[in-house]
Amino acid sequence: MAKGVILGGGFGGVVAAERLAEQLGEEHQITLVSRSRWFVFYPALVRLAFGKCQREDVSFNLRNTLLNQRVNFIEAEVARIDPLKRKVTIAHGEVEGHLPYDYLIFALGRRLATERITGFYDHAHHLLSVEKALRFGKAATEFHEGRAVIGQCPGARLPVPVYETAFALARLLEERGERDRARITIVSPDPPGLQPERSDVTIALNKALAAHDIEFRPDFPIDRVTPGAATTSNGHGINFDLLMLLPPFQGSAAATHLGITNEESYINVDSAMHVVGAERMFAVGDCVNFSGPKMGHMAVRQAEVAATNLAAEIEGHLPLSRYMHDLRLVIDEGGSDSIYVHKDIWTDEPASVRQGRFWSWAKRAHEKYWEVAHS
Ligand SMILES: Cc1cc2nc3c(=O)[nH]c(=O)nc-3n(C[C@H](O)[C@H](O)[C@H](O)COP(=O)(O)OP(=O)(O)OC[C@H]3O[C@@H](n4cnc5c(N)ncnc54)[C@H](O)[C@@H]3O)c2cc1C
Repeated sequence: MAKGVILGGGFGGVVAAERLAEQLGEEHQITLVSRSRWFVFYPALVRLAFGKCQREDVSFNLRNTLLNQRVNFIEAEVARIDPLKRKVTIAHGEVEGHLPYDYLIFALGRRLATERITGFYDHAHHLLSVEKALRFGKAATEFHEGRAVIGQCPGARLPVPVYETAFALARLLEERGERDRARITIVSPDPPGLQPERSDVTIALNKALAAHDIEFRPDFPIDRVTPGAATTSNGHGINFDLLMLLPPFQGSAAATHLGITNEESYINVDSAMHVVGAERMFAVGDCVNFSGPKMGHMAVRQAEVAATNLAAEIEGHLPLSRYMHDLRLVIDEGGSDSIYVHKDIWTDEPASVRQGRFWSWAKRAHEKYWEVAHS
């Protein structure tokens, strides 16, 4: 009998638990620990902010769902792990103390390092949780004129909600007949030449931004926010009446100081999703040290690979599955300018891009699938 423990109840943790339940015999125990029993479908948070869906549409209760699949669920805060003694320290929650494991899947996501941007907490909105999305949505509803600034801080690795927020705000102002009273500016910390000027992605995005009169300012690495103004480390500034910024991301604190992470606390893994330098430990999702954006579909695929290889390891087999790092994203513009991008990150192949109303529909259909399959 083996004890499999999964840390984190997001895309990575939930899919890992489901796949382990399918692949492991009844004699093995599966336990998932997460700080909240509520799973949040993050890709829908922009729609939540703009009143296009309700709080109950974007979250479901993990306890019921996982119990049906013979996974024990513990609602508790993970403080740290000890890969040598194979135990997890639980700080508080339904249990406290040490939880031993034979195999561990680490899926605690990323931490928001808001402290790296002076004034962020007091003067900027973000929408990376249900509460923050609702708060930002209220501010957007009260915004009628002036300048809205929307963007990523250096180290934030999630472009999709930035573009979707700009499009949703533009549509809201258009519907209210207020579009000509407001400027919308997207800021990006990346220098202009990062995307080839004539790449299909750039062309599709520029077309969609132009259709909604949204400005784009590259090379704008914000490091300070004061009331009504954001300034950059390279000496530029921008005034705002509404500010939505994604803060820098960092790996989970529970994995730091163990010699298994890079300097930003992201966990080093190989393509079998094994943690490099720790036995019987896998890591999946936003917490791992892979290049490029941090996306839910990557967490799902990594979780499938980790679960398959963990089940094989219990049976004494070598890894059966390998992860290929590709990017698939839909930027939902709300209509015919919605964009789908597919790019193999580990090769030099150019991205393939599709554009049209279908992708907006496909993204919502995927959201519905998750809701129905897990509630
Ligand atoms: C607004 C928004 C829009 C997005 N849009 C898209 C999109 O269109 N397409 C896409 O593919 N991806 C999108 N993403 C990214 C996607 O949601 C993430 O990549 C995905 O959630 C990562 O899954 P994960 O399981 O690694 O981490 P998470 O989903 O963050 O889950 C981590 C879990 O661990 C728990 N946890 C963390 N620390 C502790 C602790 N110390 N103790 C106990 N529990 C803990 C958390 O509560 C959470 O349940 C979006 C994200 C956001 C925020």
